[in-house]
Formats: sequence, C-alpha cells, structure tokens
Amino acid sequence: MKIVTVVGARPQFIKAAAVSRVLRQAHQEILVHTGQHYDANMSDVFFDELHIPHPDYALGVGSGSHGRQTGEMLAKVEDVLLQEKPDAVLVYGDTNSTLAGALAASKLCIPVAHVEAGLRSFNRTMPEEQNRILTDHISTLLFAPTITAADHLHDEGITQGVEMVGDVMCDALYYYRDLAEQSCAETGLSQLDDLFPHSPEIEGKWILATIHRAENTDGIQNLSQILAAFEQLPVPVIFPVHPRTIGLVRTLWRRENYHNIRFVQPVGYLHMLWLAGHARRIITDSGGLQKEAYLLEVPCVTVREQTEWVETVESGWNTLAHANTADILVKAGALTPAGDHPALYGDGHAAEKITQSLGRLI
Ligand code: UDP
Repeated sequence: MKIVTVVGARPQFIKAAAVSRVLRQAHQEILVHTGQHYDANMSDVFFDELHIPHPDYALGVGSGSHGRQTGEMLAKVEDVLLQEKPDAVLVYGDTNSTLAGALAASKLCIPVAHVEAGLRSFNRTMPEEQNRILTDHISTLLFAPTITAADHLHDEGITQGVEMVGDVMCDALYYYRDLAEQSCAETGLSQLDDLFPHSPEIEGKWILATIHRAENTDGIQNLSQILAAFEQLPVPVIFPVHPRTIGLVRTLWRRENYHNIRFVQPVGYLHMLWLAGHARRIITDSGGLQKEAYLLEVPCVTVREQTEWVETVESGWNTLAHANTADILVKAGALTPAGDHPALYGDGHAAEKITQSLGRLI
C-alpha cells in the first residue's frame, strides 16, 4: 500500500527513522517534510546520520505563529495528498506538522495513523496537548506507546483502532545506541560547538540539559530561574540550545556571568545519545529526552508541572520540578532511583507492529 508520512520537527525525524526502515520493506512510503524545523542542525543532520530517505516533498513552511504555520501546512499537505492519493497518512507526536497532516488527510477521507497516540498532560494551554487531542480524534489507527496512553483514549471514548505497540523512540535508541558509542567515544566532547566564549571545561563529569517548552522560554523569568539553578549545580551543565530558546539565552548570558553552563549548538542524535548516556543527571523539559534518560538509566529532573510520561516518575527515575532555582536544586540533589528498571516502553520493535497493522487497513 501507499503511505504518505508527514514530518517536520526534530523528534519526528528520529521517530520516522525508526519506522521508515521497517515500513519500506512492506509498503511504498512518500515522505513529506513540512519545514517546521529547517536549520541544518535541527533537520539535515538527522536525515544524514540516520540515513532517512530524502523527502519526496519539502514544503518549506518554516516559522510562524501557530495558526499561520498550521494553516500553511494544511494547504500544502492537501495538495500532496490530492496528487499522491495514498491509502493512509502516517503522523507522529504532537507538533503543528502532526495536526496539519492529520487534518488534511481526514478532510479527504484518507485514514490517519497516529504514532504516539493517547499521551496527555491534561494541560490544554500547551500547543502540543491541543495537537495531540485533535489528531487522536480524527485518526483511524492510534498507536499508543503505553497502557496509560491507551487508557486515556478509552476515557475519551476512542475505542476503535487503538493498539498498544510500545514506543518508537525506544526502537530508535536500541538501534542507534552502539553506533552512538562508537562514533563519539573519542570525540564526544571535542565535537561540541560552543555558542559563547569562555565556556567551562568539562572533565569527565557533566549534567545534560535541554529547555525549550513554551512555558519555560516564552518569558525571561522561568529561564533565568532555571539557569541560576544550573549555575549552582556541583557538576558542569552541557546545554544544547534549541533555536526557540537562543534569543533569551543570549540576553541572559550578557546579563549574568555563567561559569558552570556550557551553552552549545544543538547536536545530532548520535551525539545526543552519547552525551545523555554518560551524563550524571539529565535536566529537561523535553518529552523525548525524559524517556531517553529512563532507557539509559540516567536520573532525570523534568522542569514542568506535568509530564505525559508518567511511568518514568512512578518508577522513581524522573521527578518534576517547578521552574524555580531552589526546587530544581533540591530535586536534582535528592534523586536516587531504586534499582528497579522495568521495560516501560516496549522491546524496540514497535515499528514492526505499526507496519503490520497498516497492512491490515486495506
Ligand atoms: N535531541 C538531539 N539533539 C539535541 C537535543 C535533542 O538529537 O541537541 C534529541 C533528543 O535526544 C530526543 C529528541 O531530540 O531524541 C527530542 O526532541 P525535542 O526535545 O526537540 O522534542 P520533544 O521530545 O520535547 O517533543
């Protein structure tokens, strides 16, 4: 069968890399890149190092307000679907590209398959929460990564087409883990591309941090609290800075004299896996990185009021912190997970289950 896959943002390239490899053995895939993330270090590096096939359509939508960006994608994806006439449209996660792809397909009565269905933060002010709820409610196949996610769908009255397949980021991590180790063992730290002069030297120990969610980066207050905590941690912090955070980081860097934070350009996935796997702690507001911390058995502090990945918290490997200096320091200091580490996110073969399930659609 013919499947159009719509991607556009960094985590979707990683998820698509894991699924496309398997999917293309059984089906014809047409890959559409909306252009939501377009910098080389947010897009090209993933296509190159993860050997993701070149997109068949690059829509070049780029940045914009949520409505404008989603609207432009909707119109352009519709054109692709009218031309390609696929049997199904595959979308990932919770970005504007996800919603635009799903909506364009749904309005043309093309079945939508949603990977990472059923995740909920129960915070409807998050653009991601809006995107995932709307996408789930117009999907034909809903691939839930966890039982909790499947339960959320059930609670919202979605009972048809739901399949608990495990998490595709777990597939990606298991597949690329050894390669990441090999390619970064010698040069992992020297590959870092510093954003500012006079970065702290890293000698063997580090904490890895990423912060880019709207709630932490739309105003200066939360980010300045978070960076003040990083500054006081006993181990230097490596912070690959997301493009949406860079303006604020630059403003704060000029104002404060940070000595403990190494601000660097975003890194490729293999480099990130290596940095994460060898970190003493991970501090983040990223969904994907919370799970990677769990899978790599690195304790994680999540600077958010809620998480969709509740199992990581219940298992004791992840803890939530307010965007407040003292709270982050307390949580980072106190976190000592028990030895238990159940396989919460599947066995690394979610892509096979997704591929088989798609095959049953027609
Ligand atoms: N990531 C990466 N390089 C970076 C920062 C993150 O490869 O500099 C990876 C990270 O390991 C994870 C994914 O990007 O696999 C998470 O993406 P992001 O945090 O942008 O999105 P979210 O998961 O929060 O939707």
